[in-house]
Amino acid sequence: MINSTPQVVTIAGSDSGGGAGVQADLKTFQARKAFGMSIIVALTAQNTYGVQESMTIPSTFIEAQFDSLAADFVIGAAKTGMLADVERVETVVEKLKQVDFGPLVVDPVMVAKGGHHLLQSDAVKTINEKLLPLATLVTPNLPEAEVIIDQRIATDQEMIQAAKKIQALGTQNVVVKGGHSQNKEAADFVLLASGESFWLEAPRIKTINTHGTGDTFSACIAAELAKGTDLKTAIVIGKKFIQAVISQPIFVGHGHGPTNHWA
Ligand code: PLP
Repeated sequence: MINSTPQVVTIAGSDSGGGAGVQADLKTFQARKAFGMSIIVALTAQNTYGVQESMTIPSTFIEAQFDSLAADFVIGAAKTGMLADVERVETVVEKLKQVDFGPLVVDPVMVAKGGHHLLQSDAVKTINEKLLPLATLVTPNLPEAEVIIDQRIATDQEMIQAAKKIQALGTQNVVVKGGHSQNKEAADFVLLASGESFWLEAPRIKTINTHGTGDTFSACIAAELAKGTDLKTAIVIGKKFIQAVISQPIFVGHGHGPTNHWA
């Protein structure tokens, strides 16, 4: 059958160091056996030490990338990552409304682990008001969830409340990731559109190879959705994939290393 290969696109920023951003997404798509494409919104000059420089792609060229893909491919799912600023978020939102790229996973990327801002702070409002209502699933980590709801999250109960508040912004399903918590477990809280909710628990793995984990998690879920996997199963597969890619070391760079997408 023509076009039977699962096709998935990332709309995000490039990491020249290959560990996060578009590069992590494409490696994940490949590992998950979906044909991956990219709409690049921003560029970073980056390595395992951190982000040295970044710049945005002109909106007209972001639009051109959307148009090229929409004119040819049958895209089964999409994800967003680094969107940089208000103008880029608005461009992506407008184009997403024009095309049919299937279910949308929004990874609300804000700050790299080294501290470099990947999203200007005034763009959070645009994400909340314009992008989240288009999202099938949003996957903030704890610091991102705190920014989205403008509240500190210190307890499990507050994580649950945060997921509810984020869902109320118009997104259908939410995973609040617990990897940044102080707990021994790295449990994520999942709230589905149906109202069903559960904790995804996993032992905390001691490693410095966690660069790009958020990107990889959301990319894995998007790849699974493009393959026709139901959302709940896709989230569980995403968690298992993250456990696998961070549990086997990879030896590149001298800093905060990437995950192992071959795992
Ligand atoms: N660079 C880009 C382009 C990204 O999209 C991301 C995603 O979060 C990062 C860096 C973050 O990397 P880290 O996992 O080190 O926070």
